[in-house]
Amino acid sequence: MIPSIPIDKNEMLKYYKPIAIDTHKGIQGHALIIGGSYGKIGAVCLSSKAALKAGCGLVTAFVPRCGYEIVQIAIPEVMVLTDVKKKCISNISFDIQPDAIGIGPGIGQDELTQKTFLKFLKNNKAPLVIDADALNILSKNKAWFLLLPSRSILTPHPKELERLIGEWNSEEEKFEKTISFSMQYHVVVVMKGAPTHIIDGQTIYKNTTGNPALATAGSGDVLTGIITSLLAQGYEPLQAAILGVYLHGLTADIAVPKTGFQSFVASDIIDHLGAAFLSLE
Ligand code: AMP
Ligand code: MG
Repeated sequence: MIPSIPIDKNEMLKYYKPIAIDTHKGIQGHALIIGGSYGKIGAVCLSSKAALKAGCGLVTAFVPRCGYEIVQIAIPEVMVLTDVKKKCISNISFDIQPDAIGIGPGIGQDELTQKTFLKFLKNNKAPLVIDADALNILSKNKAWFLLLPSRSILTPHPKELERLIGEWNSEEEKFEKTISFSMQYHVVVVMKGAPTHIIDGQTIYKNTTGNPALATAGSGDVLTGIITSLLAQGYEPLQAAILGVYLHGLTADIAVPKTGFQSFVASDIIDHLGAAFLSLE
């Protein structure tokens, strides 16, 4: 048994900050979600909407041109910036100052996307959440690990984790390798699974919420949006990761008695975020 700290309601109440009565959208955090490619704009829609529903004041989505109308129509509350290319992200360039950036949902691995991701890593100063194909691009170019801003949050599912840290022969080895990775590059690793563990240096946290209903398309994209939103609202990276993972799982625990396991979809996570937050009040 690997010693870990349970991520439960008591742990959450140490970090959770209720919204201040006199807040306004300008100080409630601005999250930027970068992702999408032809046929995968839905990932950005899910992630951006989740970011809004997790409480930040403003959300901007940066997508290829083919995603412009899709995001604007799907989520009127989200602002949209577009790449010069129609079907993939080729040049990450914007003149806004987001408080946190989530990159990866639906982004794909086009050559141009890989090149612009490297430039982005070299220039970016905002706190980062890295997910999906942005993790896979990173795994192909291990020298780029050194470009990760300290305290970036990486959210790999098991296959993405294997690409990042290499194969393991036992659970112990998987944790040892992830701990070394987290320590070497000063990053927080959200090891998604059943259950999800969060690694910050030598400390392991184990989530206590969630169920198999979460094994559904877009579930991870929603998690990226939630964590990016919390980071944009000023939560410290480890706290954003812990609170995000807890709330994400809790939505499924709340929803499943109504939806059943089979009919729960990623949008149901977003729809039940409010109830999950209320349980902390
Ligand atoms: P992704 O594979 O990127 O879409 O992420 C899937 C999300 O759903 C992660 O947050 C997983 O931890 C969660 N998840 C998937 N399967 C299960 C399961 N059987 N029990 C609990 N959580 C799960
Ligand atoms: Mg995913």
